[in-house]
Amino acid sequence: MTRFYIHKLGCPKNDVDADYIAGYLIKNNCQSVSSPEEADILIVNSCGFIQSAKEESVNSVLELGQLKIKKPNLKLVITGCLAQRYAEQLKKDIPELDGIFGVDDFRKITSLIGSDTDRIAAVKVNQTKYREYDFDRVVDSDQVFAYLKISDGCDNRCSYCAIPDIRGKFRSRTIESVTEEARFLLDQGKKEIILVSQETTAYGRDIYGKPELIKLLEAFEKLTGDFWVRIMYLHPARLQTAMIDYMIDNPRICSYFDLPLQHINNDILRAMGRQVSRREIEALLNYIRERSHECGIRTNFIVGFPGETDQQFDELYRFVEKERFDRMGSFEYSAEESTRAAEMNNQVDPEIRQSRYHRLMELQREIAFEENEAKIGRSMQVLIETVLPADNRCVGRTSFDAPEVDQGVIIKGAQIAPGSFVSVKITGFDGYDLLAQEDLS
Ligand code: SF4
Repeated sequence: MTRFYIHKLGCPKNDVDADYIAGYLIKNNCQSVSSPEEADILIVNSCGFIQSAKEESVNSVLELGQLKIKKPNLKLVITGCLAQRYAEQLKKDIPELDGIFGVDDFRKITSLIGSDTDRIAAVKVNQTKYREYDFDRVVDSDQVFAYLKISDGCDNRCSYCAIPDIRGKFRSRTIESVTEEARFLLDQGKKEIILVSQETTAYGRDIYGKPELIKLLEAFEKLTGDFWVRIMYLHPARLQTAMIDYMIDNPRICSYFDLPLQHINNDILRAMGRQVSRREIEALLNYIRERSHECGIRTNFIVGFPGETDQQFDELYRFVEKERFDRMGSFEYSAEESTRAAEMNNQVDPEIRQSRYHRLMELQREIAFEENEAKIGRSMQVLIETVLPADNRCVGRTSFDAPEVDQGVIIKGAQIAPGSFVSVKITGFDGYDLLAQEDLS
């Protein structure tokens, strides 16, 4: 039996794709192994979003390629966004690669098995329909949550973003296929379903004529069991008050608004192509906070966008200071080829980009610690993720914290099974993480 190992890189959407690659290979009598040394086929599911991610993907291919010295028949394959974006260049630059497969082409990997076929590069572009699979994905049994892709691609064409050129046109899955996969994940024991796509708020627009995210979530109401639904990547230009109301009024849905704003200055927002203004963003944030004091707002900002002046950055800084986001990340602008922003004049000096990044993250660190301080004494519901018997404690997340990007809750003196929902009392904090004890009252 052919053994395969998948090296996962990139975003949650890419993780889901890797689960499907594993599902397909297992359906074709291959066996998943937990270390690259054991494998006959090594797959790097790559990311091609920004320069640093591209470098990480190429380095992973080169590092894993070293194993071919000891095992000449080992097949080295790259899938995912870097393969989709740079197939011909990868073929030319990395002779160790036996296969280069685009985001919708991984099923051709099996043609490498037991054959000395010459190197394969297969990249489909311009997909207009979401590709559904007639086999199950392989989900990580150690995790209490699972990502669920509801669409692929994006039509927004923000000026700094290469994703539309990589993932293609926006294409939604049907409500039936998404709900069926949600049921599959719950049957696997998942306690949190996290909806992901490049732009979740546009869900259904292409196949139902208008965005239908609420209709999708209404279909989830028929699913039984105790679980959370979390929604990532809401676009501020398309988040409607009806959607906010539905999320806040539905106890299963985390009142967690993942709202990448990218900037707040109107000229920069326009140059980015974000289709939203400062006034509209502030109205949205005010509406969310007026509707519920029990909600979490996560956002991301890009600093150092071409032309960004000190005044425009100061405007962003003061905005973050005023809004006190529950969770915030930021990125230094990265000029991506084939994007409009990369052609813009007034590219900001890398040192200035870096100093603005550090200033903004330092501000957010202060806010996060003050917000943690303010939570001491409060009771909160937590989903347990891991137990640490040796330390007699366990770790979980509140509904205001997404996995892998946000903070955790460390519960001392308790060993509660992963996947349990428990009430805890906040007793302190350690950096970004909250400290708590089980609330037995
Ligand atoms: S919404 Fe903008 S930033 Fe997000 S994937 Fe689409 S083009 Fe890129």
